[in-house]
Amino acid sequence: MNSVAQTTSFRPADRLSQIGVSEILKITGLANELKRQGRDVIVLGAGEPDFDTPENIKEAAVRAIAAGQTKYTALDGTAELKAAIRHKFKTENGLEFEQSEITVAAGAKQVIYNAMMATLDPGDEVIIPTPFWVTYADIVIIAGGKPVLVPCKEENGFRLSPEDLEAAITPKTRWLMLNSPSNPSGAAYSEAQYRPILDVLLKHPQVWLMVDDMYEHIVYGDFRFVTPAAIKPELRNRTLTINGVSKAYAMTGWRIGYAGGPAALIKSMAVVQSQSTSCPSSISQAAAVEALTGPQDILLQRRKSFEERRDLVVKALNNIEGITCRVPEGAFYTFSSIAGLVGRKTPEGRVVESDSVFADYLLRSADVAVVPGSAFGLAPYFRISYATSLAELEDACKRIGAAVAKLRPEGR
Ligand code: PLP
Repeated sequence: MNSVAQTTSFRPADRLSQIGVSEILKITGLANELKRQGRDVIVLGAGEPDFDTPENIKEAAVRAIAAGQTKYTALDGTAELKAAIRHKFKTENGLEFEQSEITVAAGAKQVIYNAMMATLDPGDEVIIPTPFWVTYADIVIIAGGKPVLVPCKEENGFRLSPEDLEAAITPKTRWLMLNSPSNPSGAAYSEAQYRPILDVLLKHPQVWLMVDDMYEHIVYGDFRFVTPAAIKPELRNRTLTINGVSKAYAMTGWRIGYAGGPAALIKSMAVVQSQSTSCPSSISQAAAVEALTGPQDILLQRRKSFEERRDLVVKALNNIEGITCRVPEGAFYTFSSIAGLVGRKTPEGRVVESDSVFADYLLRSADVAVVPGSAFGLAPYFRISYATSLAELEDACKRIGAAVAKLRPEGR
């Protein structure tokens, strides 16, 4: 009996042992539980726009279904979608790619997964500027590589410094991952800020560059988005430029991401994809063609709306004593410091010794769910996703302010 029980009991693979349950999922789980209990919880954790997918895109998907585009497609994207992506890269980013240099997957997340699975051998290192989107490190680990986290100070706008990059590079470094505008910090690199970093890479030809431009269209004020391969054409033969329709066109559920890069890399990534998902959804690909080639005015409208929300949240948070919030250049997140609150006590006598305790306190006592910075590798901070209504954001900031006002200074 015993031996049967032993052989049939579940045993996860070793590779999962280093991947913790995401803090975001834990908080969302607790927030949902509180909601079920009837509490009016405001969840500011979502990594997706609250807008709906534009009608013209939905209609293109319906047309694709009616026309029978319901079969497997070419492995890493239809010719039509690849053509639309090439056109997008050329006109918006100044990057010219051949068809063989384009890949399409079920989300940018799968593009990253394919790239790491296709290139990493055990012990290969991947440099990840921190704070980072949690997925980067976990995918590197699943692929057998080693994430090398490089903290990026708030004083440097949460951007990687060329000196820190130089110090992190070893003979085992395979990739540097860059994400601008960033999830979670909202920080973005201007051309002048990118240049010194790219100059370091030029000295290390074994290091490839993975650029995640997912939030390209969500930038504010006079910030001008630019992508590294356009700044340094010398790096083109070792840069993978990733983008997608999820955030720009509010299409997170459609699962379409894409990238442009050297043909040999793209081909190896297709091999990985061929034995995982075969191809992205045919219907979603048809919708993505419409997203990229149809009317683009929606981008500006939504950007304006996000900017209004950013301004409200940044102002409200900076008015709370003990919290400081850097003005993000893009994406829909704020990443605020609670250094001024660490050590204070909650009314229940619990010491706010970390951003995790702070997030837990906000959720339990103020019914606001935020994500602690430690979940993204940098403490003591917390991330707010402001992809929700102005009214809800205003209410959430008021609740945070009231909860912070109840914290007692150290020693009292
Ligand atoms: N890249 C960044 C920086 C993100 O924040 C996200 C989603 O949160 C993605 C990529 C994932 O995009 P997709 O929906 O295309 O997988």
